[in-house]
Amino acid sequence: MTFLAQELIRAKRDGGKLTGRELGWLVGGITDGGLSDAQVAAFAMAVFLRGLSDEERVALTAAMRDSGRVLSWREITDRPVLDKHSTGGVGDKVSLALAAILAAAGAAVPMISGRALGHTGGTLDKLESIPGYATAPDVERFRAVVGAVGCAIIGPTADLAPADRRLYAVRDATGSVESIPLMVTSILSKKLAAGLDGLVMDVKHGDGAFMTDLPGARELARALVEVARANGLPTIAVLTDMDSVLGSTAGNAVEVTESIAMLTEPGAADPRLVAVTLELAERLLEAHGLDPDRVRAVLDDGSAAERFAAMVTALGGPADLLERPEQHLPQAPIVRPVPPEVAGWVTAHDTRLVGYAVIALGGGRLAASAGIDHAVGFSALAPVGAEVGPDRGLAIVHARDEASFEFAAASLRAAITVGERVNAAGAVTEVLR
Ligand code: URA
Repeated sequence: MTFLAQELIRAKRDGGKLTGRELGWLVGGITDGGLSDAQVAAFAMAVFLRGLSDEERVALTAAMRDSGRVLSWREITDRPVLDKHSTGGVGDKVSLALAAILAAAGAAVPMISGRALGHTGGTLDKLESIPGYATAPDVERFRAVVGAVGCAIIGPTADLAPADRRLYAVRDATGSVESIPLMVTSILSKKLAAGLDGLVMDVKHGDGAFMTDLPGARELARALVEVARANGLPTIAVLTDMDSVLGSTAGNAVEVTESIAMLTEPGAADPRLVAVTLELAERLLEAHGLDPDRVRAVLDDGSAAERFAAMVTALGGPADLLERPEQHLPQAPIVRPVPPEVAGWVTAHDTRLVGYAVIALGGGRLAASAGIDHAVGFSALAPVGAEVGPDRGLAIVHARDEASFEFAAASLRAAITVGERVNAAGAVTEVLR
């Protein structure tokens, strides 16, 4: 069956509904180059403007999943194969510890993570700050590490959902990223291709998220859960707050350091970071017949830390990373606190501005092809509700040079509001099953 791309684009542009066959044909053309970049962009924009019906979302997701290889884990493990995906936030390093916690609690976790997007960080960039860690192993090595260790976090592989890689790049360049149907089909095509038994989505809302308002985040969460389930992937969504930075670091190596500290000394970790991590892990395990109480137990008894260390070693990173992170992770030449202009309590973060300040330091990208500086960022970020003054700064800036330190310090002072005493911010808003 063949179609004319311009006819299908025109039908969607005018608000029509495309059949599964028509969507499958378009995805074939996106994958094999049969559609030009102009046609891919026009299709994406037509969907952006006109949306997709429930049936179209399910069919487009399935077609994108089938554009490449679909993994199967049954010959590797009899554990439930589980994963988590976040819609993206500032300081959101949850995946690093979560994969190890789930593995220690009895799941297999083949986690395929992405790079930083806009003002939000990316797990893949964080992992690349670990010397020697193979973020792009071939599929056989990936499978072997998941089988032996219980978890492996890597970057996207060329043969999983290739249609999404092209469609996403075109969307990114043509202003059609922030569309619920396009985000849902993009995220889920990759998760379905990974051959999972279950997924938990961390859907962020707040000024540091892509969906800033709660109703929009709820709509995205509902769509993700419904489209995933209709394609045979049991999924739950947890809505979490991104109105302030998650945890006490934002950057790459600094976030790996915080994740290691959370695994090795959970009692001292940021309470919001712990709350989000535990909620996601507990709800996912519970949904797949595993004991949610194991989550706290494997964090506290060190077995999650041990799984993280085993994953890092199996993928080529240093065997003693958890014992000596500062010896292995890149350090910035300038590491200096920023005191507040007035003493008081932190009442709010402009979270998006903190994300952009990380980019300005060199820790994120302005262009998709640009490199990043893994050493820079913020640590000891004062959370909402913290008292700040001459002895307790807004954060410690990790900068490459004096000029970028000054710029980051000014951005922090603009981003962190200090005033009267307020309560600490919450982290988990609601669970959508
Ligand atoms: N992440 C993805 O993988 N795809 C989107 O469309 C948005 C975020």
